Amino acid sequence: MSKSHTIRTAEIICVGTELLMGQVINSNANFLASELVSLGISSYRQITIGDNMQRLREQILASAKRSDLVVITGGLGPTSDDITMEAAAEVAGKQLELHDPSYEHIKQYYRRICRNMPQNNIKQAMIPPESIVFINKNGTAPGAMFLCNASTEDDPVHQSYLVLLPGPPSEMRPMFLEQVRPFLEKHNSARFRTEFVRLYGIGESAAEERVKDLIDAQTNPTIAPYASEGECLFRITQRIESENEADLISPIVDTFKERFGDYIYEIGGRSLKEVVFDLLFERKMTLSFAESCTAGMASSEFVDVPGSSKVLMGSIVAYDNNVKEQLLGVTADVLTDMGSVSRECAEQMAEGCRKLLNTDIAVSITGIAGPTAYGTNKPVGLVYLAISDKNGTEVSEINLSGNRMRVRRVSVLHAFNMIRKRLQ
Ligand code: ATP
Ligand code: MG
Repeated sequence: MSKSHTIRTAEIICVGTELLMGQVINSNANFLASELVSLGISSYRQITIGDNMQRLREQILASAKRSDLVVITGGLGPTSDDITMEAAAEVAGKQLELHDPSYEHIKQYYRRICRNMPQNNIKQAMIPPESIVFINKNGTAPGAMFLCNASTEDDPVHQSYLVLLPGPPSEMRPMFLEQVRPFLEKHNSARFRTEFVRLYGIGESAAEERVKDLIDAQTNPTIAPYASEGECLFRITQRIESENEADLISPIVDTFKERFGDYIYEIGGRSLKEVVFDLLFERKMTLSFAESCTAGMASSEFVDVPGSSKVLMGSIVAYDNNVKEQLLGVTADVLTDMGSVSRECAEQMAEGCRKLLNTDIAVSITGIAGPTAYGTNKPVGLVYLAISDKNGTEVSEINLSGNRMRVRRVSVLHAFNMIRKRLQ
């Protein structure tokens, strides 16, 4: 993206017939509006529009003519009613092309959840060339940004940035925060300094409650909470008016540290798995996983971190009890008396894995991902995890709500967090 200009005005377009029909509350508009305010960008209109090609094209063009930035959410999915990328590309006069890294990411996503990629998901990797592509850490559809010529009589060389983001808030919010916002901070007449405080193990509302006084009193810096699956983070942004202005962020970060203590795993940009990798790497320690209900997901997530081969030696997917018994040495007594989803089984899985793969640390995960709990009266969402190292083995019991995918994903985060707490 060669030409860069200051972004002063914006419009927000939310796409989806379900929004028009009142089936979904438009929380994306609310989120984006407050983000734009904190960036000092004037947003002049919020438009909600259905999944209709002609109306959407007309709307994108009209918004682009009137503003420097158009943020569009929704309609990036794989089905035929998801038309946002196509509509925006047409308005910008661009063709869609296969974006290989996104295609890889989508295939990888399906591999991780142990399903074949449906053929129509290819569509989500079709993006105009010369776009800035935003990766989707929490779903399949990448976001994108590209310039659109939208000249008017008053401004014959007017260009507008079109930013396309997925509809689900759990995907859109982190994408905006981590990838779009830094771009907008750069293309702004004001200067900003931003810090992130990242927490694990505390819910968004409980976390917000603890710093409500700070949030309520905010002017500069601004403080905003964000939640994604199982994790929670705060953005603290200082608007810098002059060169040698005092650092207003550090005192707030210190207050966060006092109030959240051990819940904080990172002040800065690293994800939980990156923090865990760095901790292990610095100590030259090796890791292995014994995975039952996550069936390789923890290992797969971990190897997203470059250099992980120096740390992760291998893992055992021990789905069936036979594998738990024969490979990991879980005793028949434990399996019959306590069951495979038990404290004792998790403990023996971790210890057996550490011995078998000869690693400094082994972490096991065994639980009931649902939706049904076959052959047991234990509840769906019950998960046991164990961490074993030379100092002994520690077991953790968690009770998760949500669907099968969420139970598995949060179990993985919990496993990473156990390693972090053991080492940090
Ligand atoms: P998908 O891949 O899930 O189809 P998408 O990018 O195509 O994602 P939509 O199909 O428009 O997005 O919306 C998917 C879901 O995201 C909606 O059913 C709704 O739950 C949520 N969603 C979409 N837009 C909004 C919005 N503006 N505010 C809140 N939630 C939204
Ligand atoms: Mg959709």
